[in-house]
Amino acid sequence: MKITFASGKGGTGKTTISTNLTSYLASMGENVVLADLDVEEPNSALFIKSTLKKTEISNKMIPKWEEADCTLCGKCAEVCNFNAIVAMPKEILVFPELCHSCYACSELCPTNSLPMTPSRIGEIKEFKADGFSLIEGRLDLGQEMAVPLIAQTIEYADKNFSDSIKILDAPPGTSCPVIEASRGSDFVILITESTPFGLNDLTLAVETMKVLKQKFGVIINRYGIGNNGVEEYCRDENIPIITKVQNDKEVAKLYSKGELIYPKIEHFKNSLDDIVKFIGGLK
Ligand code: SF4
Ligand code: SF4
Repeated sequence: MKITFASGKGGTGKTTISTNLTSYLASMGENVVLADLDVEEPNSALFIKSTLKKTEISNKMIPKWEEADCTLCGKCAEVCNFNAIVAMPKEILVFPELCHSCYACSELCPTNSLPMTPSRIGEIKEFKADGFSLIEGRLDLGQEMAVPLIAQTIEYADKNFSDSIKILDAPPGTSCPVIEASRGSDFVILITESTPFGLNDLTLAVETMKVLKQKFGVIINRYGIGNNGVEEYCRDENIPIITKVQNDKEVAKLYSKGELIYPKIEHFKNSLDDIVKFIGGLK
């Protein structure tokens, strides 16, 4: 079972809910792992007391120009859809930040002058917490392409925790990184707020899920602020509302101190129970 927590925008409480849910499931004896896929700024580890167990270097494959046999025909630059290769009069320039590792230039080069070679983009870390593991993908500073590291972090979780329930904390938004974090999951839970901004971003996220043909439901966080636009939208679109998490200053206080919330706030724990029940019904 693989569940992705996503949201159309940042700050909706996605990490708060996914970290608390993982810890709660572990406290119930479930075999569970949390993967933080917000690789540009992973922060799940701030809310979970854990110790670092393992670090793996993450690479992506990029072409490396070998001058010796190159005829400067320019085919590699022509075939690259991402402008990652520029054919100069006397040399071939490769821009690793733009490369999508599609292998086209390397495969099409008539003189094999562009072998694909590994290039570091970040790290995958495995932490041991109380009753569960946390996997974190973290891009190196200056790296722009999140998708390869997200894919590798999911692969790490699949390989090393094949029997566990996997909770994936996706990056915010509706672009390629969140698509990568969602497409292999059994179910996506979209976290939103009951405000016009929340509704706007939710509709974008819902459109993305529909394009992916992904099964999904909604959690309304900070319920009680704003209006009932999100509820009406979900009713009209026939989207299940899994739970409504009450707006509560005490939740915000615990969050700001980096503490887990469910052990201290009953209504928050009740919302986690709703999620657990819903996930149980998916099996
Ligand atoms: S396709 Fe190969 S031979 Fe042609 S310019 Fe590029 S590297 Fe050189
Ligand atoms: S591997 Fe693909 S994206 Fe990267 S430089 Fe070659 S053609 Fe461009």
